[in-house]
Amino acid sequence: MEPVRIPSIPAAAFPLPPRLEGLRRLAYNLHWAWHPRTRNLWSLIDRAAWNRYRNPVPVISGPTDWSRVLDDEKFLAEYQDTLAAFDAYMANGSGHWFERKHGDALGGPIAYFCAEYGIHESLGIYSGGLGVLAGDHMKSASDMALPFVGVGLLYRKGYFRQQIDADGHQEHGYPDYDLNRLPLARVQDRNGLPLSVTVELPGRDLTVAVWLAQVGRVPVLLLDTDVAENAVEDRPITHILYVRGREMRLHQELVLGIGGVRALRELGLAPAVWHLNEGHSAFLLAERAREFVASGASLDTALEQVRRNSVFTIHTPVAAGNERFDSDLVRRVAGPLLDRGGVPVERILDLGLGVDGDRGHFDMTAFSLRLTNGANAVSQLHSHTANATWQGVTDHPILGITNGVHGPSWVGTPVLELLTRDLGADLEAMDAGPRQDPFWERLGRIPSNDLWEAHLRQKRELALFAHGRLRNQLARHGEAPAVLAEIESVLDPSIMTIGFARRFATYKRSGLLFSDIDRLARLVWDADRPVQIVFAGKAHPADRPGQKVIQEIFQRSRSPEFRGRVFILENYDIRVGRFLVQGVDVWLNNPRRPLEASGTSGMKAAQNGVPNISILDGWWDEGYTGDNGWAIGGRETDPDDEAQDWADAQSLYGLLETELIPAWYDRDASGIPTRWVDAMRRSMATTLWRFSTTRMLLEYMEQLYLPAAGFQAIREAAEPTITEAG
Ligand SMILES: *Cc1c(COP(=O)(O)O)cnc(C)c1O
Repeated sequence: MEPVRIPSIPAAAFPLPPRLEGLRRLAYNLHWAWHPRTRNLWSLIDRAAWNRYRNPVPVISGPTDWSRVLDDEKFLAEYQDTLAAFDAYMANGSGHWFERKHGDALGGPIAYFCAEYGIHESLGIYSGGLGVLAGDHMKSASDMALPFVGVGLLYRKGYFRQQIDADGHQEHGYPDYDLNRLPLARVQDRNGLPLSVTVELPGRDLTVAVWLAQVGRVPVLLLDTDVAENAVEDRPITHILYVRGREMRLHQELVLGIGGVRALRELGLAPAVWHLNEGHSAFLLAERAREFVASGASLDTALEQVRRNSVFTIHTPVAAGNERFDSDLVRRVAGPLLDRGGVPVERILDLGLGVDGDRGHFDMTAFSLRLTNGANAVSQLHSHTANATWQGVTDHPILGITNGVHGPSWVGTPVLELLTRDLGADLEAMDAGPRQDPFWERLGRIPSNDLWEAHLRQKRELALFAHGRLRNQLARHGEAPAVLAEIESVLDPSIMTIGFARRFATYKRSGLLFSDIDRLARLVWDADRPVQIVFAGKAHPADRPGQKVIQEIFQRSRSPEFRGRVFILENYDIRVGRFLVQGVDVWLNNPRRPLEASGTSGMKAAQNGVPNISILDGWWDEGYTGDNGWAIGGRETDPDDEAQDWADAQSLYGLLETELIPAWYDRDASGIPTRWVDAMRRSMATTLWRFSTTRMLLEYMEQLYLPAAGFQAIREAAEPTITEAG
């Protein structure tokens, strides 16, 4: 099946030397986000600009000294090779698993809707796990040559940039993206003009510009209300991700759901499957019902048609974590549009009645579940909690399709090179080649000292990166030169390093390690076997308790007890995340079970050979094998949160003291911690396939997409096709 091709106009017009015209092609496709060779080209052209902007458009749009690279034969050869590889990737969609097995079975693309996409750090239209998952979903869909089109919002101010002040307060800064300097293009309409669509709001028509972020073979449409046609008060609708005001948020979600469908239609697309990744886009269901009604169907038939080929992924375990709006707000803002379209708002509100039966609220999750034909939770454990929470709302079971990560985006180059050299593993082409656990068992072939050496390289990279970040942070606080000089010697790679990075939501219990200060201080300052801990993470601007935890950790990191052993890096984003999952020794996660739906950062770490120590929650409940890391506590939960926290902290300290630290410091004659390296190998072997987005997408295809497109037989056959030898 052909990939979706969308005509577009690059945001900025600038000349390039004719011989290097192909750079434009390379720059405006985010393919470079997971191809280090292409990124190297940007660095060769202008290292300073690349490091500063982390995206190629400012590098090549000038002013650029082209004469230097045009005289450099090595550069030109590298450019030619890289461009040829890119062109071959884009041209060759056949031979992949889906094409071989199902040919043209879909009959149309899969439209994937999500409120955020984490594709690369330079495109700040994501906040965390949901967005990174969506970005990895798009990248794997591209690698697997699946016919996808993504739909999202273009947040010109994105998510906040975090700084931590000298007292530990989180400060929020909003960037103001210049779209001319991002790898984005305006989508063209049929006449070759920039495409816009309209969404009717009370008393005015909102104009929505349609942009394109091309992710390899997959186009992602991004909707933007900041255009001259709109009133000044409507232009910021799409400015800020997860904007706080409920009315503004509702406007955003109307733009995403309704504007998204209209953009696809303007492009002549007739998706075979509609995927709502989380309920933010659920108004797309109402818009599609309106379309069926407009073509003559009764309302009931229309809703039935919509349900037939729509699927939904739920992301939060508890009802309270799901998106809800006041019913009156929905009536006022969306009522006229819906009523006029023959899809009465009262009917929509009925379909969005939450599990608590509260008519005062419209529940986006309940609405999505009632109007889709298949749904999934994001881990096996999460599917149990989700089915228990939502029983009665939906008559089909919520399947468990565990999240994965896109290996080529997260595995560090030193480790990746070993996988390629010793296993011939091509993470990008996993669906076409061997992909089962037994294949990964061959990791045993990688010599321990090579694996350890690759890990240490990644660890040194993290230390260098962290030094720069910490120096900036403390200089801003006005620390003395001697204090700044101290930074050069911290994060010594010969000390065991624990990494902890995530949203500072209270249920994640980011401060759990500090439950017993004396015990932790003894541990980190042990004369023979010391430990250091690196934290990173943002708290939502409205989440005061989360911000308090950040402050506590920051203050500890500057206190005499922990200074030099505990660190907190600012502005956790994809870049910080990459350094951390690649370069720490062990990855810690201690949420309150069962509130973590899946979690994915631990998968990224494990694929780099960084074992997890985690609560048996989310993905780790099924990922932990007994020899690939450590489980904090068990599967029982104490109804008394405080008692549970204390018990989990005891388990965590105990494991560190008796198992992890001894294993990490126990070296053989050549300085290799052999027991630890075994755990590293087991981490990789048990996750590189099982927690990849390749495996995840195969399951989505077989258990949700193909059945929704009318291939009922496939759901039953799903198991064998996934596990048989490839
Ligand atoms: C992977 C990732 C996440 C999600 O990780 P969790 O394990 O769910 O906390 C969040 N933010 C960034 C920047 C990431 O890279």
